Amino acid sequence: MEYKIALIRGDGIGPEIVEEAVHVINTIGRRYGHQFIYTDVDLGGCATDKYGVSYPEGTAEKCKACDAVLLGAVGGPKWGPDKPAEQRPETALLAIRKDLGLYANLRHATLRPALVDASPLKKETAEKGIDIMMVRELIGGIYFGKRGRYETEDRGVECTDLMAYSEMEIERIGRRAFELAQKRHKRVASVDKANVLETSRLWRATMHRIAADYPDVELEDVLVDNCAMQLVRDPSQFDVIVTENMFGDILSDEASMVTGSLGLLPSASIGSHAPALYEPIHGSAPDIAGQDKANPIATILSVAMMFKYSFDLPQESEAIEQAVDAVLAAGWHTADTMGSDDKLVGCQEMGRLICEELER
Ligand code: NAD
Repeated sequence: MEYKIALIRGDGIGPEIVEEAVHVINTIGRRYGHQFIYTDVDLGGCATDKYGVSYPEGTAEKCKACDAVLLGAVGGPKWGPDKPAEQRPETALLAIRKDLGLYANLRHATLRPALVDASPLKKETAEKGIDIMMVRELIGGIYFGKRGRYETEDRGVECTDLMAYSEMEIERIGRRAFELAQKRHKRVASVDKANVLETSRLWRATMHRIAADYPDVELEDVLVDNCAMQLVRDPSQFDVIVTENMFGDILSDEASMVTGSLGLLPSASIGSHAPALYEPIHGSAPDIAGQDKANPIATILSVAMMFKYSFDLPQESEAIEQAVDAVLAAGWHTADTMGSDDKLVGCQEMGRLICEELER
């Protein structure tokens, strides 16, 4: 089979980690007889330097012509908040998600067996295991709501950010969560703040309405503050967690952190029609860019998710996961996950070891 992949290498460590992911994709191609065709797409700070804007015209069209998109990371101090919106990398990230209609963000927070010691949780808690599929609504809610800033007579400047959700938006993300749970352990925790927010009351009512279509899945309501506590107390209790954009932004970072390293976790952003976008959950790490120190594993595991969800190649996806675990179990680590008995490797060597394992 032939698959077209758009590569957004981006800024900071982006180009280094995407390069290693491409080596892994090519190795899979050779082993399993697939052909991959790449289209390079400029987006982020590198696009601002080249074209004056972080989201050049035609970016979405280039991505839509492919079967999936792989993104490294964008951003850095050079294109900070003092720059006009059209030059900032974050503007481009929001725009590509919106233009591709990527309403569901899936983060798979797993504690890899070789990294139990890297988790900040108590050993007995970590050893119970973590395998959470975090499903975050990505293109609605307060991040996309109307904003306002105005002078008041007696309180100085006042600002507003509007959080709005429609039944349609809640239902489509809710159905994604139930469908994922059906393929996993059949439990959905729906996170809201229904004791305070009207949007959350609609969220809860909608989730319960659609739950009737998935009788094999158990639905539980969890308040967002309680969820934040439970994630550190006993994350093993969760299977699929589904929530709105801002709660998901915060909780998915927390869920990632308890697994030990940001450098290990992949994500997928999925819509109804356009190609899905796969990216590591970490940022562009400008502090280590260009030094061959970055951990490419989150990007490589993003490729594993791409094979599973966009190309329906579960065997290839599994092979990548197993190769990563084998390399880590053999004690090879980049600096961010290194323990005292481990052997230090750089980004390129880590990529090479994973490819070598795949060739075995
Ligand atoms: P970050 O994730 O880039 O870095 C946080 C820390 O983790 C740093 O010490 C970094 O060196 C380390 N780190 C991150 N990824 C690593 C990896 N693969 N291997 C080894 N160490 C790694 O977060 P930040 O410092 O808050 O943000 C830096 C830039 O990235 C900012 O411009 C931010 O806007 C951007 N950012 C981009 C995305 C994205 O592209 N989706 C996401 C988050 C942040």
